[in-house]
Amino acid sequence: MTKAIVIGGGIAGMCAAKVLADAFDEVTLIERDRYPDVAASRRGVPQGRMFHTLLERGRREIETLFPGIHKLMDERHAPRVSFGFNCALMTPRGWGRNLPFPSITSLFCTRGFLETAIRDHFCKEERVTVIEDATVAGLTSDGERACTGIRYKVRGDDSEHQMPAELVVDASGASSHAPSWLTKIGVEPPREHELDPLLTYAGVLLKRRPGTRFPKHWWWTHGAFVQRVPPRDNKGAHLIRQEGDLWLLTLVAGDGFDLPEDIDGIARFLAQMRSPLVHDMYPYFEPTGTYSRFRLPKNRWKYYEDWSDPLDGFIAIGAATCVFNPNMGQGMSVAAADADILRRCLEQTTSPRELPRLFFREQARFQKNAYQLACRNDLRFDSVQGKRTLRVRLFNAYRDMITQAIAANPALARPTGRVDMLLDPISRLYRPAYLLRVLFAWAFLRSRQTPDAAARVAPEPPPRA
Ligand SMILES: Cc1cc2nc3c(=O)[nH]c(=O)nc-3n(C[C@H](O)[C@H](O)[C@H](O)COP(=O)(O)OP(=O)(O)OC[C@H]3O[C@@H](n4cnc5c(N)ncnc54)[C@H](O)[C@@H]3O)c2cc1C
Repeated sequence: MTKAIVIGGGIAGMCAAKVLADAFDEVTLIERDRYPDVAASRRGVPQGRMFHTLLERGRREIETLFPGIHKLMDERHAPRVSFGFNCALMTPRGWGRNLPFPSITSLFCTRGFLETAIRDHFCKEERVTVIEDATVAGLTSDGERACTGIRYKVRGDDSEHQMPAELVVDASGASSHAPSWLTKIGVEPPREHELDPLLTYAGVLLKRRPGTRFPKHWWWTHGAFVQRVPPRDNKGAHLIRQEGDLWLLTLVAGDGFDLPEDIDGIARFLAQMRSPLVHDMYPYFEPTGTYSRFRLPKNRWKYYEDWSDPLDGFIAIGAATCVFNPNMGQGMSVAAADADILRRCLEQTTSPRELPRLFFREQARFQKNAYQLACRNDLRFDSVQGKRTLRVRLFNAYRDMITQAIAANPALARPTGRVDMLLDPISRLYRPAYLLRVLFAWAFLRSRQTPDAAARVAPEPPPRA
C-alpha cells in the first residue's frame, strides 16, 4: 500500500492530488480551511478576493486533468475574454490593437468560482481523502535524508497527530512554512531569490445598476484594463466581467501611491488615471461585496532544483516553490502545469529518492519562464530595488521592440501572446526568423509615422476594427 500526502488544497494541491491518485494507492489532501459550500473567497487564500484570470495554458491543463470542467464553467456563465475584441487594453504604449475577431482568450471568473468548479469534479476522485480544518505543523523524518510523513493539528483539538507517507507534496502556497519545517528536521532549506514588486491591490465586486446600458460604441463589453507605465507611473486599474452578472474592479498601486482606504475614494483614484475609461464605466455599477486591500507578496524563487541537501520523499509545487507578481495572470496556470510535470515524472519513477530530483529539475525549467517574465517586468519600475543585469535590460528593450513591431505587422503578436500565455517558452522569441521579422517591422515603423499613432493615446480606444 503506497500513500502520498498533499499539504494544501488550493489549485496546485487539487491538481497534484488528482495526478497522484493514478500513482499511489491512497492520497490524503490536508487543507487548513473548511471549503465553502458555494463559490466564495476563503481565509486560506486571501488573494482570492482579488482579480484572477486563467490563461489558456492553465485552461488546457485543467481541462486535461478534469475533463468537462470548461463545459461546466460555460454552463455557469464564466466569460471568455479576448483583449482587443471584447476587452479594451491600455498598455504602457497606448491602446492595444483592436480586433475584428477574438484572438487567444482567457477565462475570467472569481477565484472562488474556479476552485469550486474544480472541487465539484475533484471530489469524485475515489482514492483521494480530503481532511478539512486541519493544519500541517511540520514534517517527520527518519533522522537521515528521508521524509516519512507530516505532523498536523485539527481545528478544535489541541493534540498533534502524525500521518506517515511515502511522498509528501507541499502545495501550501506563497506562505509555505517548508523552510522552517525542513530546518526543524535538520535539513538545510534551499536558498532563495526575492524581488519585492512593492505593489498593493484593492478590489470590490460590483453588479450592473438596474436599467443601465453601456453606450453603443463601447465594444469593450467585457471590461477594460489601464496598465501602469514604467518607470514611474505606478497606478493601474481594471474593471472586468466575471461569472453571471458580477464584475470585479481592481485598483493597483506601486510604491509611492496610496490606494483609497474605503469605497468612497475609488472614483477619485480612477479620475487620476491616464485614461478615463474605467472611471467612465464605474457609474454603471454598484458594489455587491466588501472592498478589500492586499499587499502583494515578494516574487520568490526557492532553488529546489539546485538544493544541496535534498530530502527523499518530499516535493513542493505551485506557489510553495515560486511566487511572482500576478500582473500577467500566470500563477494558477503554473500550478496546474506543475501537476502535469509531476504526472510525467511519475511515469518515469516513483522512487522517493529519484522523484524529487527529477521533478524539481523539470518544474524549474518550466516555471522560470513565468518568474522571469514577472521579475523582468517589475524591474522596469524605478521603485523596485533589484539588479538590472544586461540580460534583463536587453530583454525588456526587445519586448518593447516587439510591441512596436506588432503595429506594423500584426502577425507578430501571436508568438509573443503564446509566450505570455505560457504555451511556449521565452526562447521562442529568439528564433532567428521571428527576431528578423521583428527587426524589419520595427525599422519600417520607425521610418514612417503610422496614421493611427494619435488614436493610440486617445482617452478611449479606437472604434471597433
Ligand atoms: C493579488 C493576486 C492576484 C492574482 N491573480 C492571479 C491571476 O489573475 N491568475 C493566476 O493564474 N494567478 C493569480 N494569482 C496567483 C494565484 O493566486 C496563485 O499563484 C495560485 O493560487 C497558486 O496556487 P497554489 O495552490 O500554489 O497556492 P494557494 O492557492 O495559495 O493555495 C494554498 C492552499 O494551502 C492551504 N494551506 C496553507 N498552509 C497550510 C497548512 N500548513 N496546512 C494545510 N493547508 C495549508 C491554504 O489554505 C490554501 O488552500 C494572484 C495572486 C495574487 C496575490
